[in-house]
Amino acid sequence: MTLSGVAIKRKKASSFDREEAATPRPALLLGWYDRHRRRLPWRPLPGEAADPYRVWLSEIMLQQTGVKTVGPYFEKFIARWPDVEALGGASLDEVLRMWAGLGYYSRARNLHACAVVVRRDHGGVFPDTEQGLRALPGIGPYTAAAIAAIAFGRRTMPVDGNIERVVSRLFAVEEPLPQAKPLIQELATTLLGESRAGDKKSRAGDEKSRAGDSAQALMDLGSSVCTPKKPACALCPLNDGCAARARGEQEIFPRKAPKKTGTLRRGAAFVVTRGNELLVRTRPEKGLLGGMTEVPTSDWLAAQDDKAALEQAPASKGIARWHRKTGVVTHVFTHFPLELVVYTAKAPARTRAPEGMRWVPIDTLADEAFPNVMRKVIAHGLGL
Ligand code: SF4
Repeated sequence: MTLSGVAIKRKKASSFDREEAATPRPALLLGWYDRHRRRLPWRPLPGEAADPYRVWLSEIMLQQTGVKTVGPYFEKFIARWPDVEALGGASLDEVLRMWAGLGYYSRARNLHACAVVVRRDHGGVFPDTEQGLRALPGIGPYTAAAIAAIAFGRRTMPVDGNIERVVSRLFAVEEPLPQAKPLIQELATTLLGESRAGDKKSRAGDEKSRAGDSAQALMDLGSSVCTPKKPACALCPLNDGCAARARGEQEIFPRKAPKKTGTLRRGAAFVVTRGNELLVRTRPEKGLLGGMTEVPTSDWLAAQDDKAALEQAPASKGIARWHRKTGVVTHVFTHFPLELVVYTAKAPARTRAPEGMRWVPIDTLADEAFPNVMRKVIAHGLGL
């Protein structure tokens, strides 16, 4: 794929010609970053070298979670385990408890597994290449690129949602996501900056690279200026050459393919209480909502009927009378919408949990890794 697929009307937009003759985009971006960079707990101060442990820890926590939520967890982890040696020596249970409430618990398991590997096989030192990083547990292509650029100054551009938005607007990328990802990656790479004379060498010894700063500049720009709605183009360092702005069509980018809504699936969820406890189980590690906590449910099928669903209720002596709550709980997953009927039952004291399930105190439910659909089910079932 080439850059020629990008819809930039260079001839009509005289401002682009001016911009091309003036400061190049990577330098504009880095200049803006030097003035406006966000202060974040995991970011070194200007001129300081990044700590790969802090970069890695923050990148894992930031997968699927926002900066505001991650901040206090990051501080707690750093206070308890100041380096990867310390974290690799902790037990998984300790790490999971410290992670409680941050969600997506498979990240915590991978975090711990990765720390163990770095401590045991790499002498407590993170590999400094994308390839080396990708061989570690829980580090995919994006995270490897982010750590390689930010911690080691490798010339690579990690493209997250913020960067996708900025780049697709800057170049007016007409191809919809997700097909446009390779093109956006290629265009984003053209925004990588080089170092100024006198800058310190990156840890990877590459004097030319301010790749980590370029990536973080785009992330900050997307988060504070080139926002999904009403971008503040007047404050944008790249506004003079922005194709979407020239067309007055900022908000139509990034283009998105129409969502496939999928076929409605139905099922039943079973909210069973024993005094102040709730019956739950953990979903299998692999697959939808892997490793997360749920109340027992029937299968979720397009052709599910109520009778067949109720037959899959958890069986145990003591759990006998099911009460069907009025209404249904609805939830939309990426590939299908779901409708769950909720049944409740009260189990007498000492009722044993069926195999593979457990009782948890209702006042500690916040510590469990419930996905949103289950929060809705429990709220409906318990009348919260
Ligand atoms: S000019 Fe506006 S739309 Fe273009 S990159 Fe900057 S903030 Fe985004």
